[in-house]
Amino acid sequence: MSEIELPLFADRHNHPYLYATLRAGLDLSQAECGEQAADWIRRRLAEQPPADGEFLLCHGWSSGLGEMPHALLEQPAGVVLFHRSLHQLQINSRAAAQLARSYPDEVQKLEDRKWFELNFQRVLNWFAGVGLTAAGLEEFYRWQRSLGVGYVEELLCCGSRELALFAEAGLSSRTRFWASPATWEQLNEAERREVYGLKLFLDGALGSWTAALLEPYSDQPEHRGFLLYDDYELAELIYRLAPSGKGLAIHAIGDAATQQAVRICRQLGTRLHGFAEVRLEHAQLITREDAEWARRLGLMLCLQPNFSIDSTDYLERLGEQRARLNNPFRMLIDEIGFEPGIDLLFGTDGMPHGAEFAIRQGFSPPFPEQQLTLAELSAGFSGAPVGEGRIVCLCDDELREIRVVLAE
Ligand SMILES: [Zn+2]
Repeated sequence: MSEIELPLFADRHNHPYLYATLRAGLDLSQAECGEQAADWIRRRLAEQPPADGEFLLCHGWSSGLGEMPHALLEQPAGVVLFHRSLHQLQINSRAAAQLARSYPDEVQKLEDRKWFELNFQRVLNWFAGVGLTAAGLEEFYRWQRSLGVGYVEELLCCGSRELALFAEAGLSSRTRFWASPATWEQLNEAERREVYGLKLFLDGALGSWTAALLEPYSDQPEHRGFLLYDDYELAELIYRLAPSGKGLAIHAIGDAATQQAVRICRQLGTRLHGFAEVRLEHAQLITREDAEWARRLGLMLCLQPNFSIDSTDYLERLGEQRARLNNPFRMLIDEIGFEPGIDLLFGTDGMPHGAEFAIRQGFSPPFPEQQLTLAELSAGFSGAPVGEGRIVCLCDDELREIRVVLAE
């Protein structure tokens, strides 16, 4: 048995502001069925009824369980339920009525999958930061440290209020802010200097059948998910953003989306040099040819070892063969030459938070093609401030124990 010590992780893809907000809500990630979740919701509403005009934010619902039956959501207060992927949202009629006061047109469209994906950031902004204080944000970061994470990158910056709250909490150096072009537009000069990069979504997520696939979903033979932009629109948008000198993070999960990202980046060529860096976020499904092109173009990849488990959780929708191609770390590292910590970064996306699940999924994933060594995991998650603690892994062939030891 050997004991291996790793520095605290830098989580390169997460949403600290939204998750700090949701932490005050109800965690349904352990729910095994709708009835059980409804029971927890009922109990929570009885113990802590939301103030007038507010709602109970539930999170972590696994879409592996399907939709939460709507009738079960009808409770005596407004209830908003985020699926684990965040790319699916269910609200009860009271929450709909409350939201309609501020967003009368948008609330009608929430069920429209494409509208939702196109307006993802906008909808999350309705909820992110509600009731969150600097103390709440500090608590979130303390909790992250206890989970072995000393730095948490923000891939969905919600704007001025978030930037101000991070500054107030003294946490601005513990993150990097990535903002959508729409959020960016609303910031003043000083705020724009705080923002590290711009974030675009090319598709949705596997959890909500909205990731764009080259071949149809195995359980929905007519459906391939969808791309949110056509090529021309996307090229024009990236071209327009390049002179900002910021980073560019491109969310692309399905192989049709990673292919589109690579195709457009090839077309834009040297115009991409306006960006400080260009990252593909998730890239869970990427063909070898596109991965080769991505490396040749100097794109960075930011993947989530956590999501290797999608090969099991979403086996039915991916199909046996494609499930094996999810998170192809060995291909990216051994065959294409991506290097963890250099041009291959890791994040958790908060699904779930912390080092342990990421290490376990990296070390013993569903398929050998997804396996990572502890050294590779540590490099891909590197960059947190040093001296605040360490992650101790006890292992032989298997990982026996993982614990976080914080400095006093
Ligand atoms: Zn994310």
